[in-house]
Amino acid sequence: MNSYETFDVVVVGGGPAGATAAHDLARQGRSVLLLDRAGRIKPCGGAIPPRLIKDFEIPDELLVAKARSARMISPKDKRVDIPIDNGFVGMVDRDVFDEWLRERAASAGAVRRSGTFEKLTRDADGTSIVHFLDRTGRDRRGANEVSTNEGQLVGVRARAVIGADGARSKVAEQAVPGARDTEYVFAYHEIVRAPEVKPADYDGSRCDVYYRGTLSPDFYGWVFPHGDTLSIGTGSADKGFSLRAAVGGLREASGLGNAETLRREGAPLPMKPLRCWDNGRDVVLAGDAAGVVAPASGEGIYYAMAGGRLAAESVEALLLTGNVKSLALARKRFMKAHGTVFRVLGIMQWFWYSNDKRRESFVKICEDKDVQQLTFESYMNKELARKKPMAHVRIFLKDMAHLMGFARA
Ligand SMILES: Cc1cc2nc3c(=O)[nH]c(=O)nc-3n(C[C@H](O)[C@H](O)[C@H](O)COP(=O)(O)OP(=O)(O)OC[C@H]3O[C@@H](n4cnc5c(N)ncnc54)[C@H](O)[C@@H]3O)c2cc1C
Repeated sequence: MNSYETFDVVVVGGGPAGATAAHDLARQGRSVLLLDRAGRIKPCGGAIPPRLIKDFEIPDELLVAKARSARMISPKDKRVDIPIDNGFVGMVDRDVFDEWLRERAASAGAVRRSGTFEKLTRDADGTSIVHFLDRTGRDRRGANEVSTNEGQLVGVRARAVIGADGARSKVAEQAVPGARDTEYVFAYHEIVRAPEVKPADYDGSRCDVYYRGTLSPDFYGWVFPHGDTLSIGTGSADKGFSLRAAVGGLREASGLGNAETLRREGAPLPMKPLRCWDNGRDVVLAGDAAGVVAPASGEGIYYAMAGGRLAAESVEALLLTGNVKSLALARKRFMKAHGTVFRVLGIMQWFWYSNDKRRESFVKICEDKDVQQLTFESYMNKELARKKPMAHVRIFLKDMAHLMGFARA
């Protein structure tokens, strides 16, 4: 006999992936525990596409800004403005956004606990026990929450576990083969207050994207508007590259050098999806824990939520049928929907972000209306635009011309 509380599913991590999985499963009547290590705002540019807003029913009041154009800026300061026709990119503040997602899961019936996952063990009958340092210190409205001693190590039984605890996931490291080998890019940004006197050419509804080796040798630098604040950041896989110094340079280049700094923060981003997302028994991964951040763009929120939903579906199938192969469906379905986009973006990053000559050509290519339209449609709707086959042919020919050096930057 043991005295562990039992849940159908324990979701470790209450970011976009975990909160989405917990919400979906609780809504279907499953008993769900959503465990999150509270206290740190996820470092993130907070840009989300319309497809996410639609698929995951995100209310307008969570959007602190709507970007209606993007400016691509080359090493030689060539600027290409891309209007976002018939739409916008939403900007969210992750402290508010993530908490809203967790509360939505709680109002669907998930039990929330605040604490740190420590380890997975097994009961005598083979059921997973999730051990965590419980820091839940207060009742939460509507969340069926109970207070426990501060910082106490507790265990709960779980018929299935979803590891959504982000990059360098402890659940993945303990349960899923190959997870320890993941490679990471490091991204860093500074949150600054939008100055009262705006710099020349400032536009609070435009995302600026800098392609410059001085700002990142293998990624890009960004200035994203968030209403009263801005996220100014960059990323790189090069451990010797100073991201802080690069963000300093980016702030100067964008006229925001003297803006008040509210936070400085960074985090690793996984470079590619893990080969395996489950342990073939009762654990499946989602989001950054599974390695799903898009190459070239660094976009992870939509893919985390899509992965969380697929993990929930695969766990539901496991609980219904007992077939452990159901867990592999999460990765299979994800890669079917997004694998091609990830591959194309990976090649793009490898080629176009490798030196300033190519970055210059890349920004030049972005002047092309076909490129603008197809790029944005793919970003906004998460589908490779198939409606215009001739546009793909034209882009291919133009890309080839640039690759072969026939076109002038
Ligand atoms: C600087 C930066 C800028 C970015 N900008 C963008 C952007 O503009 N748009 C975009 O789409 N993506 C962006 N990303 C990527 C995006 O932030 C991630 O891909 C996304 O947050 C992944 O969601 P997730 O739920 O998988 O993981 P996370 O958001 O990392 O959530 C993991 C959760 O698990 C919890 N947790 C971790 N360990 C434990 C533990 N041991 N026990 C209990 N809980 C735990 C954490 O508290 C957290 O709430 C950016 C990333 C960085 C670093």
